[in-house]
Amino acid sequence: MIYFVLALILLHTCQAIPEFNDINILVVTDAHSWISKHIHDDHDPSLNADYGDIASAYLQLQSLAAESNSDIFLLNNGDHVEGSGLSDASVYTNGIHGYDIFPLIAMMPFDALNIGNHDLYDNSTVEYMTGESGFVDGWNGNYLTSNVYNATTNDNIGNTHTILKGKNSDTSILVFGFLYHQTDACTAVNVEDPADTVNSPWFLSALQEGIDAGVSAIIVLSHMDLKDDNVYVLQDAIRGYSDQIPELENIPLQFLTGHTHYRGWSKLDDYSSTFEAGHYLDTLGWISFSADPTSPTWFDFQYIDANLEELYNFTGTTEDTFDTDLGLSISSAIEATVDELGLRAILGCPPQDYSLGTSNSLYDLYMQQIIPLSVLDVRTGTGNTPWHLSSTGSLRYDIYEGEFYYDDVFAIAPFVNVFRYVADLSGEDLQTVVDNLSQTSNDSPIFTGLPKYVGGPDDIDPTLFYDLFFNDYDESYIVPAVEAVVGEDVVVVNWRDDSGADDFVDTTLCWAKSIPDLFPC
Ligand SMILES: [Zn+2]
Repeated sequence: MIYFVLALILLHTCQAIPEFNDINILVVTDAHSWISKHIHDDHDPSLNADYGDIASAYLQLQSLAAESNSDIFLLNNGDHVEGSGLSDASVYTNGIHGYDIFPLIAMMPFDALNIGNHDLYDNSTVEYMTGESGFVDGWNGNYLTSNVYNATTNDNIGNTHTILKGKNSDTSILVFGFLYHQTDACTAVNVEDPADTVNSPWFLSALQEGIDAGVSAIIVLSHMDLKDDNVYVLQDAIRGYSDQIPELENIPLQFLTGHTHYRGWSKLDDYSSTFEAGHYLDTLGWISFSADPTSPTWFDFQYIDANLEELYNFTGTTEDTFDTDLGLSISSAIEATVDELGLRAILGCPPQDYSLGTSNSLYDLYMQQIIPLSVLDVRTGTGNTPWHLSSTGSLRYDIYEGEFYYDDVFAIAPFVNVFRYVADLSGEDLQTVVDNLSQTSNDSPIFTGLPKYVGGPDDIDPTLFYDLFFNDYDESYIVPAVEAVVGEDVVVVNWRDDSGADDFVDTTLCWAKSIPDLFPC
């Protein structure tokens, strides 16, 4: 028994130095601004590595790889913002998601980056990335947006593709950066359906350019699920062009996916696979394979926890030898920004955990206490019962017993959506709306075990009349559902939608305002 437990512990904590192959890639996806270490006990082993440590791990592996004339590439698959105060606290100072974080990400030694859907919800974020911050230009052509265009100029936001060359070997890779067909992006951009993009002349030319340059593999950064339909569309298109470029039939083809926030790998054909490496910097993904197009590719992949001990083991270093100058400078810049933004200020002391799952549910707390305390506490004047409905993609992180930090507000509710309502719905109609919405799908990527929509604070009474509250992200799903049931257009009223007012709340601020009263220390 003792040996069994020991074996489990060893399995859990040991990562051997990887074997290098022709193509070696480290990948981070869906960091959502979790570039500082996790301070709550939310993972085993603890996630005590930050972006500076990821940079050090990469540089340490690069030196190891150089000894065997191999190369490694560090790639990022997008969704940089929306998830912690480092990205989102600035919304309350200058209105821009990402204002503080893009300069920090710019310090990272990424070889290429993709764009994510969350980077595209606000015009101000896109304008900041592409404009004054110099973020996109700073990557010198390696910020990839194969199917995302500036809506005004119709130019790609970044580059369509790039060829990365190894430093120690003659390995090179052709890299694309695709986003799923996002239809709710901000007006500053147009996202093209990947099924159309693959028919663009530039796509075939890029493949030809790669083959002419002698690339050893094609990497498709894909901000979409591991098995999204578009993965197959892209695979079919690339393999299909082998009628014009024969090398495309067997060239190793690796999809680096994301968006759905889990770990997974799947083989697509003898020479291609798809790999997703977690979220919130819980995972540094490793994938490595041979560039030999004459025999089926063996893909070696690993999920390395963003845990210092695991990074030491994976890079063959120790606490004393792991750090690099670049890594240390990134870590200290991150910590300085955390301090500047006051993200470690303690707002309250919850007596228990509240989770995104079905027990001790965070959504129960949201519906029964947070919303009634901060949104429904002032009456609309109709005399109706106020009731709130939310999709279950709205909340993103658990509450932990103990200390609740200002940063936790943004981890739980990063989206800063405002509240609106529709007045005078009968209880019967409201129940039908909720039932109908529960049948439909939304694009919430978070698996919570909960229905797609939850409401409260109480069960619906069919004999009462209600004012139905929702946030402006859910509005585009909820209002059509209401109109379908009542059979006519409805009036949507803004609720405290004036950020200058003292009693203004949005989906993020309602937590900051309620937690100190609910959970005093
Ligand atoms: Zn994401």
